[in-house]
Formats: sequence, structure tokens, C-alpha cells
Amino acid sequence: MSLRDLVYSFFTYYAVVAYILIGITCIVLSVKWFDAPVRMGAAVLLATVAYPFGWYLIHRYILHGRFLYKSAATAVTWKRIHFDHHQDPHDLRVLFGALHTTLPTIALVLTPIGYLIGGRSGAAAALGWGMVTTCFYEFCHCIQHLNYAPQQKWLKDIKRLHMSHHFHNEQGNYGITNYFWDRVFGTLYEKASDKPKSATVFNLGYTAEEAVKYPWVDKLSGGTRGDGHPRRFQQAEGLSAPEVTSEQS
Ligand SMILES: [Zn+2]
Ligand SMILES: [Zn+2]
Ligand SMILES: [Zn+2]
Repeated sequence: MSLRDLVYSFFTYYAVVAYILIGITCIVLSVKWFDAPVRMGAAVLLATVAYPFGWYLIHRYILHGRFLYKSAATAVTWKRIHFDHHQDPHDLRVLFGALHTTLPTIALVLTPIGYLIGGRSGAAAALGWGMVTTCFYEFCHCIQHLNYAPQQKWLKDIKRLHMSHHFHNEQGNYGITNYFWDRVFGTLYEKASDKPKSATVFNLGYTAEEAVKYPWVDKLSGGTRGDGHPRRFQQAEGLSAPEVTSEQS
């Protein structure tokens, strides 16, 4: 995949289009309601800090929390927003977050923070900045998964760390663009040799035994639930693996 194809897949995805439209609307509103520049700046700054922290907590404790598959009501969502992505990290259909889960979460966290600091203009600025951040996260995540080799050291590094989350041990390297909170909580590992290989890296703990007890995700998967390397999907899709080196480790 060339960078051009990647940019095309990105900007034509419905959730990305929605983030851009909502982001523009929020930024226009924050300018229209503009009153206190210092407080608005503070709202944007706090949103910048809160976003990666929120993502870290959600990814580690909710998406990898091993409770969403235990009820019929949450199994569908968990399957869509994280299980399928770990089962087949190359599947474009589940590469991006689902708008109906991302947008309410981001809005519920950032809008009150922005409002408390800078009133309605602060709320609009914080949410608008959250949409920009989300586009950035999704774009980097696209680069990490699609068959594209970045040239910049920083992009190479975050791609390697995210690939180890998918192919070596999922209980670490939770950040996407930012591994600050992994450092703080001690979940960052630079090399595969720093952490043992996880048996649940592709099934997230939703093993065959768990599938007997909690059948919903398995039923929805139509027999594709597996514990091993996702090459069974790649053969079906005819895709090539972008992360050969990290998968061999
Ligand atoms: Zn991923
Ligand atoms: Zn994950
Ligand atoms: Zn692969």
C-alpha cells in the first residue's frame, strides 16, 4: 500500500469524515463564542493531557478488561471495537474505532473539562481539539497496521511498539501515538525480549473455555474465533503482513 492509498482509505472512512465535520463545527463555535483566550488555551491544554490518559485507561481496563464478553448486551460492541481487531489486525473493516462508541466517550470526557475551565467556548475548543487528536490517532493507527513502511524514526518506533501489542504481548504498550502513560504505569516494553510472549495476544483471554461459558462473541464470529496467529484471515483476504520482523520474535 502506498501513502496515497492509505490517505485515501483514511479520508473516505465515515467516522473520519464525521470527526472532521464535528471538529470544524466546534472550532467555528469556539471562535464565535471566543471570550477568554487564557482559559480557552488552558481548556485545550488539559484536553491534550486528558486524551492519552483516557485512552490508556480505556484500552487497558475496559477493552482488555475481560468483562465485556461476559454479557450478551456488551459482547457485540466488544467484538466490534477490540476483539476483532486483535483476532485480525489487518482487517480494514475493524481498524478504525466505531463512531457510536468513540464520539460519546470523547464528548463525555472533554466537553465538561472544557466547560468548567472556559465556559461554552472552552467546551467547543476542547471537543474540537479532541476531534483533531482523534484523527491523528486514527491516522497513526492506520500507518501502524497497513502495509506501509514509515521513514521517520518516531513513526517507526510507535509502529514497532503497537505491533508488539498485537503480536507479542497485549498486556503492555497500550498507547497508540503516545507511550507516556505506559512508562508511568510500567507497561511499556521496548523489545519483545523484555516481556514473555503472551498466549492470549490474539484472543484477549477469550479462550475456547471462556467461549463455552460466554458464547455470544463466539456465536457472532461464525466459527472464526481462534487463539493463534491471524494468518488464517490473511490467506482468505490475500493480504501481506506488514510486521514480519515483530511477528517472528
Ligand atoms: Zn491496532
Ligand atoms: Zn489492544
Ligand atoms: Zn501479520
